[in-house]
Amino acid sequence: MTTARPAGAADPRRRVPRTDAVLADPDLVAAAARLGRDRVKQAVTAAQQRARTGVVAPEDVAADALAALPAAATSIRPVLNATGVVVHTNLGRAPLSDAAREALQVAAGTCDVELDLATGRRGRRGTGAVDALRAAVPAATGAWIANNGAAALALVCAALAGTGKEIVISRGQLVEIGDGFRIPELIESTGARLRPVGTTNRTHLRDYAEAIGEDTAFLLHVHPSNFVVRGFVRDVGIAELSGLGPPVVADIGSGLLTPHPLLPDEPDAQSALVAGADLVTASGDKLLGGPQAGLLLGGGERGGGLVETVRRFPLARAMRVDKLTLAALEASVAGPPTPVATALDADPAALRARARDLAATLARDGIDAVAVDTVGGVGGGGAPEVELPSAAVSLPEHHAEALRAGDPPVLGRVADGRCLLDLRALPPSADAELARAVRGV
Ligand SMILES: *Cc1c(COP(=O)(O)O)cnc(C)c1O
Repeated sequence: MTTARPAGAADPRRRVPRTDAVLADPDLVAAAARLGRDRVKQAVTAAQQRARTGVVAPEDVAADALAALPAAATSIRPVLNATGVVVHTNLGRAPLSDAAREALQVAAGTCDVELDLATGRRGRRGTGAVDALRAAVPAATGAWIANNGAAALALVCAALAGTGKEIVISRGQLVEIGDGFRIPELIESTGARLRPVGTTNRTHLRDYAEAIGEDTAFLLHVHPSNFVVRGFVRDVGIAELSGLGPPVVADIGSGLLTPHPLLPDEPDAQSALVAGADLVTASGDKLLGGPQAGLLLGGGERGGGLVETVRRFPLARAMRVDKLTLAALEASVAGPPTPVATALDADPAALRARARDLAATLARDGIDAVAVDTVGGVGGGGAPEVELPSAAVSLPEHHAEALRAGDPPVLGRVADGRCLLDLRALPPSADAELARAVRGV
């Protein structure tokens, strides 16, 4: 004879813990501090529902809710860049240095970004970053910081030529930078008129000279960052342009402040100003290795004055950067070498040694991993021809997808039926995490 049990005692629906009890779980309390109580509560409600339908055991409700919650309050996730491309546009361009991350922390709270603590009066915004830039680029007589390189250039065009004046530019420099971003379209959107001179492959000094007239606002020299034209080619340099009279504006793109030995064809701000550019515009998050920002640097007396003109132009207010950018940029310019600089300067022999060590560790775990020599690149739409000798751990191809979906996600590249995890853009401190990610596949 079977004894009847009290009705519902075995019914998991009756044993689902109450919301308050689940929310008291220490891990969920911590999650609520990170993500907000509402979000955690939603996850708990969903987990309770799964317990009622028998999908989750009643005692696992807290763990189930926790598993459904993200690790951070942002949906942006960190990714290990094993592509071999130092400045990867889809991975947020330049990774910030520890110094820049600390600076972000400092600026994140209330801070003296626009207050002179000595006098108690309103201070000039962003002086630290501007001073750091001027110290790093000795030829700069003035500096201002915009949201990004495109903003810096657009602002210069609007402030100096937006009333319908002409900007003289070589046809060889009417370029598309990436994702449909075209320099000529940006310029014309400011109300300035373009006066293209020369041809796609050859432009002479006399082409510029003949185009200069009453309506000329300035001569614009744009670095065609992401392609190279070879053969029957003639380009007029900044030094020659600076002798023609009107101001010369150089959009150098990548934000290299001074020459880099590995990147001889990449223009830098100091050289452009010394050559005679009145204004230089550039990005802060390509080769400069800082946060997204646009640099505006002036050279000589005229350039310094032009920076002031641009800075005081009403539209500048709509393109200024926040305190976080100012803090991270200052730390990137004045602080220790950025991760971009470190990756560019990495010794190929050291990269090979790391690849060998990693492959050996993984092979001991029975993983088909071997070290191979590779070729990495600069990326970020810059230095398209520069090949950076590098090294990678080569794995079976199917690892690529699994690693991308892993935790943390790892982005490698697939070549010749193998998944390559290139170490050029990864700091040595990431090797252990990389090995863990591979083992987790
Ligand atoms: C990248 C680039 C820009 C745009 O800079 P952002 O910081 O991406 O806005 C403009 N001009 C050149 C030559 C570039 O290479």
